[in-house]
Amino acid sequence: MRQLELRNLTIRYGETTIIRDLSLSIKNGEIVSLLGPSGAGKTTILKTIAGLLQPAGGQIFINSISVNHLPAEKRDAVLIFQKPLLFPFLNVAQNIGFGLKMQKMARREAERKIDRILEITELAGLNSRKIHQLSGGQQQRVALARGLVLEPAILLLDEPLSNLDAELRLQMRELIYTVQRQTETTMLFVTHDQSEALAISDRVCLLLDGGLRQTGSPEELFYSPADPEVARFFGCDNIFSSSDSFTQQAGNFHTDQKLFTIRPEDVEIFSDQKEPTSPRHAFEGTVTGMIFEGRLTRLTVSVTEKEHVTVLCRRPAFHIGQTVWLRMPKDRIHFFP
Ligand code: ADP
Repeated sequence: MRQLELRNLTIRYGETTIIRDLSLSIKNGEIVSLLGPSGAGKTTILKTIAGLLQPAGGQIFINSISVNHLPAEKRDAVLIFQKPLLFPFLNVAQNIGFGLKMQKMARREAERKIDRILEITELAGLNSRKIHQLSGGQQQRVALARGLVLEPAILLLDEPLSNLDAELRLQMRELIYTVQRQTETTMLFVTHDQSEALAISDRVCLLLDGGLRQTGSPEELFYSPADPEVARFFGCDNIFSSSDSFTQQAGNFHTDQKLFTIRPEDVEIFSDQKEPTSPRHAFEGTVTGMIFEGRLTRLTVSVTEKEHVTVLCRRPAFHIGQTVWLRMPKDRIHFFP
C-alpha cells in the first residue's frame, strides 16, 4: 500500500514557484529521504504534506485519502522539526504522552505505549526528567518518541540531526534507522547531507531546481547518477566526454561524444607506467593539486592543460609536480543515459 503519494505538486510563495509538478510515492514501512541543497524546498514540501502550507496545485494522499482539504490536525502525519520544540513545563513522559492525551486515549494504554517508545528510543529511566535537564541529543530523542508514539501513517523528519555534533549525529542516525526497522513506521526524512541520506534510506529522492532529479536506491544515485549535476552533488567532478584526448587510452570506448563519469576513488593512480596490471589503458598526467581530507586525500591530476582528473586515495606517496599514470577500470565508468 502507498502510505504517501504526491501527485503533480506545485508550491509557491507569492509569485515565486518553489516546487513544480513534483510526484512521489512512499510505500508502507519505507524510509525515503528527500535530499537536496539548502534552499531547494525540502522543508516547504514537508510543511505542505503536514498541512501547514497549501499547495498551488496537485494532490496529496495519505493512506490513499486525499488530504488537500484537511487541516493539519486531521492528517495522519507527524512533522518533527530541526529543533525539538518540547514543552518545558512537562517532563519527558508527559511530553511524549501529550498527543495521546489529546486523542483521549485511556491512561493504561497510553502508559503502555509510552513505556515501549521510551525503551525503543533509549530513554528508559528518564521519564520524570524535566526538558532542561536533558542533553541536546536526548531532547531530540524525546521529539522523535513523541512523534512515534502516535503511530502516524507517515512521520516527516525535517533535518532532525542538524543541531547535533558529529558523533551524536552518527548515534542518532543509527537510532532512527533501528527504530524505523523495529516500528516499521513509514518515514520521509529530509536532509542536505548526502552521507546521511545514503546511510539511512531505502530510497533517496534528489531535489534540484524545484523538481525531483533522480529517485532510486542509495547505490543507484551514487554509482549511476542520472546527469552530471547529480554526480557533482555526490562529490564527483570527473565528468568527461569520450572525445576528450585521453579517453581513448583510458578505456577502449566505441561510443562517440558521450558523457561519462568515474568516481574519484575508483581511478587508479601509479607512480610508474609499468605498475598497472593492464598498462595499455593507462595514461599520463601531472599532480597539480593535493588536499588532505583526513581519511582520504584529494589529488588533482592534470592530463592536459584543460583536462583534469580528481583522484581520491589513502595516504598517497605523491607530490605536486610529479608525473603519474592513471587508469580508469572499464567497469567503473558510468555513461550518462
Ligand atoms: P530547504 O528546506 O530545502 O532548505 P526551504 O523549503 O526552507 O528549503 O526553502 C525553499 C525556498 O523558499 C528558499 O529559497 C526560501 O528562501 C524560500 N522560502 C522559505 N520560506 C518562505 C516564506 N515563508 N516566504 C517566502 N519564501 C520562502
